[in-house]
Amino acid sequence: MTQYIPVTMCHDCGLLQQISHMPEDGAVQCCRCDATLRKRQRVEPAKSIEHTLALVITALVLLIISNVYPIIQVETEGHEIAATLFGCVKYLFSNEMEFLAGLIFLTTIGAPLIQLTGLLYILLPVNFNRMPPYYAPQIYHLVRIITSWSMLEVLMLGILVSVVKLSAMATVVPSIALWTLALLMIFIAAILSDLDTEMLWEKISPRIRAVELEKLKRGTQLTNCHNCHFLCTVSPAHESCCPRCNVTIHFRKPDSLNRCTALLIAASVLYIPANLLPVMVVTSFGKTEGDTIINGVMYLATSGDLPLAIILFIASIFVPTIKLIILSLLLITVHFKSEWRPRERTYLYRLTEFIGRWSMVDIFVDTLMAALIQIQGLMVIEVGVGAVAFGAVVVLTMLAAMAFDPRLIWDNMEKINE
Ligand SMILES: [Zn+2]
Ligand SMILES: [Zn+2]
Repeated sequence: MTQYIPVTMCHDCGLLQQISHMPEDGAVQCCRCDATLRKRQRVEPAKSIEHTLALVITALVLLIISNVYPIIQVETEGHEIAATLFGCVKYLFSNEMEFLAGLIFLTTIGAPLIQLTGLLYILLPVNFNRMPPYYAPQIYHLVRIITSWSMLEVLMLGILVSVVKLSAMATVVPSIALWTLALLMIFIAAILSDLDTEMLWEKISPRIRAVELEKLKRGTQLTNCHNCHFLCTVSPAHESCCPRCNVTIHFRKPDSLNRCTALLIAASVLYIPANLLPVMVVTSFGKTEGDTIINGVMYLATSGDLPLAIILFIASIFVPTIKLIILSLLLITVHFKSEWRPRERTYLYRLTEFIGRWSMVDIFVDTLMAALIQIQGLMVIEVGVGAVAFGAVVVLTMLAAMAFDPRLIWDNMEKINE
């Protein structure tokens, strides 16, 4: 049976609170900032590991099929071109766009592969009541980090947008990997929602006891581990390690404001070439034209694809801009120790974490179009340098959001209330 730790600390506002009972359905939320503290599992705790293991094995098979077969095939003027995921990475690499090739590889192949093989390595022995495998906590830590970079749902949206755009210039035939990728996306979402992480930590680090609050000395600093959410004591004098997963823990993310500001400045600088330089270069009958992000959206809007234009506008223009604005607002208000609406500012922080990855849609669309439309003498599409700058903006804003510690918003409030 899963034992829910009765005392927990909110990861978004740092408030220590007791979970008196788990509701029959739904989740327990923080009473101060509404962050989800515990979720009731859909699957019975006794069957959670076995159920997740079955999902992981199926997802691995789907991942292999998705990488062996093409995603879509384009037929035009007697030419047939098929694009595989790895083919897109190879195309970018051979066109000297190593950064974009690496980014596409990480978000669509590398991250899901590490996530699934890591879970298989841990769950297989645990399911058969064997000892947890060597380095299980470290590997589970890696799985949790890499999960933020797995973007199959964004890739699926990118493929759908590409299919609509391509169907205006050629016959588009969906291939087997398109369907297996859609299934893989659903399986990975099910794994993330059904895996009882608290129980898995108990299985791979079984001898760890929860902190006994009543035995703590006055003034002891507590924090929850950023990796496994275990409540630990921290010493300001020296580095502490989480007793459950062994990662270095800090009372607050170290240098959060400085790191977030530096990443945000770098993202804002690259935001300019990302919007001014072409993300896609089309050569048709000897004439070469570059398309910036806004050109692409305007073209779709005027050619009758309004829903598609709206999707691309939100993902490529609205989301990166709003992320830069929100993160700047959070940094400025924390720097000036503002008391202004801490709960709403925490909501804004969670929004930036959630929406950031969706800007990758444009990169996926440009890469797929370029990998598929390579008909020499008729039409050739290439990925423009603007896409490299845009990819860097997406990565930098995601890293900036990860570097920001939302508990700093509430630390100011606590000092005021003291
Ligand atoms: Zn909270
Ligand atoms: Zn930990």
